[in-house]
Amino acid sequence: MGRYTGPVCRLCRREGVKLFLKTLRCDSPKCALEKRGEQPPGMHTQKRRKTSDYGSRLREKQKVKRYYGVFERQFRRYMDLAGRSKGNTGSTLMALLERRLDNIVHRMGFAGNRRTARQLVSHGHICVNGRKVTIPSFLVKAGDTVSVKARPKSVRFVKQSLEGFSGRVPDFLAVDSAGDNPSGRVLRLPGDTDWSIPVQTSLIIEFLSR
Ligand code: SF4
Repeated sequence: MGRYTGPVCRLCRREGVKLFLKTLRCDSPKCALEKRGEQPPGMHTQKRRKTSDYGSRLREKQKVKRYYGVFERQFRRYMDLAGRSKGNTGSTLMALLERRLDNIVHRMGFAGNRRTARQLVSHGHICVNGRKVTIPSFLVKAGDTVSVKARPKSVRFVKQSLEGFSGRVPDFLAVDSAGDNPSGRVLRLPGDTDWSIPVQTSLIIEFLSR
């Protein structure tokens, strides 16, 4: 299955939560979820149907997958990795998703949403520890420095994003936007309090371990 190219607000309406897939519109009254409330997408759908146990677990998994913009196969790979590592599987799964370079670029304010962040990375505008990285799923480590390639076009774009950035940089990241070349540092690995979306990881694990 290819990447979803349809209207992204539809995805938020399907999940019933803000997934912040656009930029300025998400925090404005124009947000489709605020305008239409609980109404799910579709011309003839007025009310949300009661979901089964299976349905609620599926929705929780889809919500997280859509929020981070990952494919099913990638998501299951993260789940495998989390299952094989020590510690709580749900927390490890979320930490892996949070450590993706496209997510880090977005959370540092270098891009207005994860989709744009993904494009910034794959088009070669982002460096990790001084080296260009073009893989959006690259996993950052504690102590890594994420910077913008010293090219006028890249720096201009990121500075514009930083000016319009209304979110809060999470505690595990530090951003230096004052200099000519904006950069940020990963202070530590993300923990349970650092997820930017409320999620019941137990439902996802139950769904994937059927
Ligand atoms: Fe989701 Fe943003 Fe669209 Fe609102 S404006 S429905 S948060 S993508």
